[in-house]
Amino acid sequence: MEIVRREEIMRILDDYDEKDITIGTIGSHSALQILHGARQEGFRTLVICLKGVEELYERFGVADDILTVNDYREMISDGFQEMLRSRNVILIPHGSFVEYLSAEGIASMRTPIFGNRKVLEWESDRRKQREWLAAAGIKMPMSFERGDEIDRLVIVKLHGAKGGSSYFIASSPEELKQKLRDIDNAYEIQEYIIGTRFYPHYFHSFVRNRTELLGIDIRYESNIDGLARITPFMTEKIEPSFVVTGNIPVVARESLLLKILHVGDGVVSASRSLFSGGIVGPFCVELVCTDTLELFAFEISARIVAGTNLYINGSPYSQILFNESMSTGRRIAIEIKEAIRMDMLHQIVY
Ligand code: ATP
Repeated sequence: MEIVRREEIMRILDDYDEKDITIGTIGSHSALQILHGARQEGFRTLVICLKGVEELYERFGVADDILTVNDYREMISDGFQEMLRSRNVILIPHGSFVEYLSAEGIASMRTPIFGNRKVLEWESDRRKQREWLAAAGIKMPMSFERGDEIDRLVIVKLHGAKGGSSYFIASSPEELKQKLRDIDNAYEIQEYIIGTRFYPHYFHSFVRNRTELLGIDIRYESNIDGLARITPFMTEKIEPSFVVTGNIPVVARESLLLKILHVGDGVVSASRSLFSGGIVGPFCVELVCTDTLELFAFEISARIVAGTNLYINGSPYSQILFNESMSTGRRIAIEIKEAIRMDMLHQIVY
């Protein structure tokens, strides 16, 4: 991956007018929240969206500037980047960035991006994610190299499958062999952990030097979350699928919270030893909690996740931390604002 060097982004930042920063993002995923939060903290806001989608941002009135494109890859062109820089734009990445621009596309952008673009390399590769979680000392589901080795329920994850679509479950080597017959893309065979899910929204503040828990959600997935309601009446076996259809708020029993916080701490400290600068800003670890109250992690998202959209008005946890309505979008804006005030912007942007 051709990654723009940090020094180059720092030079670009030197030319920025820190009193006139614009917070920008792609019009999708958590853009309303990000722009709303930036507005709350007094920043100018800019959204880049596909032609036809601008109406959404006009109707919610969250953006000072709306730029439309026919294809998101236009954003990567020199002319577009130049225009973003001339407006002192700091881009806030979210779940649609990699989808629309690719990890390589983002890494090559000559516009300052909030956080550390080095995480992209670690986030977009399942093997590297496991290395990261292992370095963080966090338990993970077992991963099987070969189908005939499985001795328990497994979930098979196809590479490139979006949001868990076409993942499947198998409980024996024979069943797995049968189901893998028509699969030609790469996959991972992982132990299926039975338990309850928690997807905590962490925020690592470089400025305040602490990792905060801003909220927790569960992904609402079809058809797996609908199957339990109908299972007693079913005569035939239905294959579960894991397509995200929404998010549900959750609070953890209080005795689990410290463990959940320690997962976030582990991810942050491991990131510092794995790549320079470490992780900065929002991230999420997908966890399953067993009936012996052990937490297993199977995925890291190293940016704001869509589940934070539940908490534009704040969550029970962010309320305790800040005593005012605090979304992850607003928290990002505060981090940028405090970094500007303390002359630390160069450390939280790359
Ligand atoms: P995204 O990239 O959108 O986060 P994904 O395609 O990487 O999704 P995962 O998040 O890894 O998919 O998994 C999708 C869903 O499958 C999870 O939300 C969870 O419900 C279930 N799942 C995944 N791995 C496990 C596991 N090891 N044990 C139990 N359930 C799992």
